[in-house]
Amino acid sequence: MPGPIDLHTHSSVSDGTETPTQLIEAALESGLGAVAITDHDSTAGWSEAFAAASGTGLMVIPGMELSTNYGPASVHMLAYLFDALDGGIVAETARIRDGRMHRAESIVAKIAEDYDLSWDDVLAESSDGTTLGRPHIADALVRKGIVPNRSAAFESILHWRGGYYEKYYAPSPLEGVRMIVRAGGVPVLAHPATYGKYRPMDDSVIGQLADEGLFGLEVRHRDNTEDGKLRLLKLAKKFGLEVTGASDYHGDGKPNRLAENTTEPEVLEKLLARATGSTPYLG
Ligand code: AMP
Ligand code: FE
Ligand code: FE
Ligand code: ZN
Repeated sequence: MPGPIDLHTHSSVSDGTETPTQLIEAALESGLGAVAITDHDSTAGWSEAFAAASGTGLMVIPGMELSTNYGPASVHMLAYLFDALDGGIVAETARIRDGRMHRAESIVAKIAEDYDLSWDDVLAESSDGTTLGRPHIADALVRKGIVPNRSAAFESILHWRGGYYEKYYAPSPLEGVRMIVRAGGVPVLAHPATYGKYRPMDDSVIGQLADEGLFGLEVRHRDNTEDGKLRLLKLAKKFGLEVTGASDYHGDGKPNRLAENTTEPEVLEKLLARATGSTPYLG
């Protein structure tokens, strides 16, 4: 594989700030050999990303970051190379996106009681079909001059303890793994050791996900704590899981830079061998 492999990026189909075309251009500028487009709960960016990579030699791996709920915790699961037309995937992601929309509307209604912010302001920060999230509310707050940037919004008004937070519908991690595997895809737990304040999933639960077909753990991610990474490496060994690394690039929406963390070519080879739902695009 010529060039680094980055398996976690977002476009404006969800909460990245660049269109899929711009994301591919950025991947080329960074000298990546392979990039996965993994928008939240949506595959809508795949075809544009493929088209943008045409003739460039870049490998584009179609993927998604599936939202799941484990008790009070939101657990993100990367999914690669599944069939985007699989009935289970189509129905469940539509349900999640719809839930996200109503949840965002409800958060905005609460914020509007205290700040000059409307639902139209938030819609103006997204396009039709975008997987809506707090980042779009953050962008509206920035545009209105209420906060200076996305991060400031997340540290105050949009913080889960900020007084306006709400959850949204998502399947359990176990249902998520089963759904991805049924669609011929390869599931990897995204940033499973963030913050480290509390551990949403016991080791045994990760073992159960491994039994159901979980492929790997995203260990090298800037939000995983150092202690957490050591724990994840031990768990990977114990349950026979692969180890991945990625940037979680969001364009200008986050400081994360492409290729700041990468995945070994041998691991990508195994991932490609496991997948049966779709194929990578060789640009
Ligand atoms: P939501 O899915 O609506 O709950 O919003 C969470 C999303 O916001 C995550 O996918 C992150 O990519 C993004 N996010 C979280 N913290 C920040 C931050 N400090 N700055 C920018 N984006 C963030
Ligand atoms: Fe995000
Ligand atoms: Fe995530
Ligand atoms: Zn992400």
